[in-house]
Amino acid sequence: MERSKKMVLLCHCILNANSKVEGLSRFQGAIGEVVTLLIEKGIGMIQLPCPELLNHGIKRWGQVKSQFDTPYYRESCQQLFKPYLHQLKDYMKNGYEIVGLVGINGSPTCGINRTCDGVWGGEWKTSDVWKEKIDTIEVKYEKGVFIEEIQELLKLNNIELPLYGLDESCLEESIKGLRLFIEMEESSLSNNK
Ligand code: SF4
Repeated sequence: MERSKKMVLLCHCILNANSKVEGLSRFQGAIGEVVTLLIEKGIGMIQLPCPELLNHGIKRWGQVKSQFDTPYYRESCQQLFKPYLHQLKDYMKNGYEIVGLVGINGSPTCGINRTCDGVWGGEWKTSDVWKEKIDTIEVKYEKGVFIEEIQELLKLNNIELPLYGLDESCLEESIKGLRLFIEMEESSLSNNK
């Protein structure tokens, strides 16, 4: 059977839920529905690295976007993505297609359509402070830091890559949306040939 020459980039925890902040994931290992869909479509999967795990380890707390919005973290996100950018350029030069990138909505790092923010940080000595800080958490309809830095690098290299934000809180709907996204992007890629 001939290879499809099609791939998607997946944020790390789609294939390895163990990288998530402890207590957050409801998946045992991988999000099987994403994998099944991509296998069915004959699309290869490129697993991106998890910037939070690499920078802060598996014992990290759940954090918000403003805590990751530092020059160091942004630079680190760019460094992590560069080897993948090199792969994309080589694949694309040789007739392979990158259908898109699938991120995780709600994540301060990998969110596509939404992320989370709040007045977070400092000492957490008493339960009052704890509650006060939790009450400041809000949804922001913007991208996470890693995705922003990926977009910046893609723009600098004149690469357009469609993005899809997976919503783990309503997975069934989200997988239907992912199927549509893939079908639309596949048809636009074949129209552009
Ligand atoms: S959303 Fe991104 S940063 Fe968070 S666990 Fe998944 S890959 Fe890591």
